[in-house]
Amino acid sequence: MRLVIGKISHESNSFSVIPADLEAFNERGYRRGADILTAFENTNTPLGGFLAGAQSQGVELIPTVAAEATPSGPVTRTAFETILEDLLQGIRTAGSFDGILLQLHGSMVTDDYEDGEGVILSAVRDEVGCDIPIITTLDLHGNITDLMLEKATAFFGYDTNPHVDKYERGLEAFSAMVRVVEGKSHPVMARSHPPIMPHPLRVRTDTGPLVALLERAREWENKPGVINVSVFGGWPHVDIRDAGICFVPVTEGDRSLAETIAQDLAEDALNRLPEFLPRDLVQTEDAVQRAMEATEGPVILAEIGDSPAGGSSGDGTVTLRALLEAGADGVAIVVKDPEAVAEAVRRGVRSSFEMEVGGKTDTFHGEPVVVRGTVRALTDGTYQNRGPKDTGVKMDVGRTAVIRVGQDFDIVLTERRISPTDPEVFRQAGIEPSAKKIVVLKSGGHFRAGFTSMAADIIDVNTPGVTAADVTSFNYEKVNRPIFPLDDITG
Ligand SMILES: [Zn+2]
Repeated sequence: MRLVIGKISHESNSFSVIPADLEAFNERGYRRGADILTAFENTNTPLGGFLAGAQSQGVELIPTVAAEATPSGPVTRTAFETILEDLLQGIRTAGSFDGILLQLHGSMVTDDYEDGEGVILSAVRDEVGCDIPIITTLDLHGNITDLMLEKATAFFGYDTNPHVDKYERGLEAFSAMVRVVEGKSHPVMARSHPPIMPHPLRVRTDTGPLVALLERAREWENKPGVINVSVFGGWPHVDIRDAGICFVPVTEGDRSLAETIAQDLAEDALNRLPEFLPRDLVQTEDAVQRAMEATEGPVILAEIGDSPAGGSSGDGTVTLRALLEAGADGVAIVVKDPEAVAEAVRRGVRSSFEMEVGGKTDTFHGEPVVVRGTVRALTDGTYQNRGPKDTGVKMDVGRTAVIRVGQDFDIVLTERRISPTDPEVFRQAGIEPSAKKIVVLKSGGHFRAGFTSMAADIIDVNTPGVTAADVTSFNYEKVNRPIFPLDDITG
């Protein structure tokens, strides 16, 4: 058996001013061909799952492209056309093969298309015709469209948020593909899309309404003829018609059963509307005070409005400013600022540093703040995630400078945007986050996988930005209305 594999992944944010251009994909290591096999071996990723499955069953893989950019504004026309053409070229030159396994996200928007994955799957389907199965893993934050369903054979969405089951879902997709190629399985899919567009804070899988919905999905999966049931929390930070939650059951040739399951889950979700509204958010000044008064650390301050893993600038200053003004100490925070990194490198380790930091990308995440301190460390910003999310994946946040303010207040300046979801981002800079009193994380929720075990307390801080908690504060033009919570849908 020979299978084509590939990955094109981007979570787009309509409100972000940062483009996903080719440079952004290259920064995250855009790979083609055999390079992919070594890069993703033993990683907690769908590609890692495809690789492991193939190895254990003696299946030959034909790697094409692996492209991902940090979430941001739409994918540029040039980047999208280049990457898609590389994928299609990889398929054209693959020789004869039996199926295509892809890792896609589900919330990709491009300069030209609001349904990036629909366009990718259409192009691949046109290339290979109707007889080749196309099976795809998708992110739990995917906004899934009818076009995507029409062009693909089966979807396997992540069941966890933070996404710690990427490898398992990859392996599951691989096994499903083997059964299809062997003629033992004939998947069909259905989709339901109740009008609910929750903030990611309320599509966690350890608390909130998805817990019960996933449980119900698992019950359906235990019934005969059901291959998989994906629960997509959706992604509210793109302004497209199909934004919002979605259920996609995959059954053994029984479309009416798939539709029944999809409807059942949609009704369940509609009965839980209030549960989809964010709760327990704390305003910045109150959060800083609570963290400073805490007797045990570290207290995690999660900056909900500035989450680069959702497309924000990563240079937000609202929490940093509040901490400096309150005289906090024992702090660690990551801020993207290539200009400040260059200045710290120019001055050198142990020299004094004074400069305006952060708030330079846009006007949504706070003004630049004056930082006076000492350059404590300079690193190359490369490290490997230790997990449990994205375990084994190599990261490169660009040159990194640590500025020490006061006794024990460390500002980690990076050249590139990063949601610090793995503690290694601090350790590569010589900082042990568990030893700090306050750790500020520009992350909406994925940080919980790597930081919960060390945290004395976790506070979701209601900071402003393009990933802010209140989705009704954004100006939507395209999303299908009415939709909760933008509209009252109970009447
Ligand atoms: Zn996600």
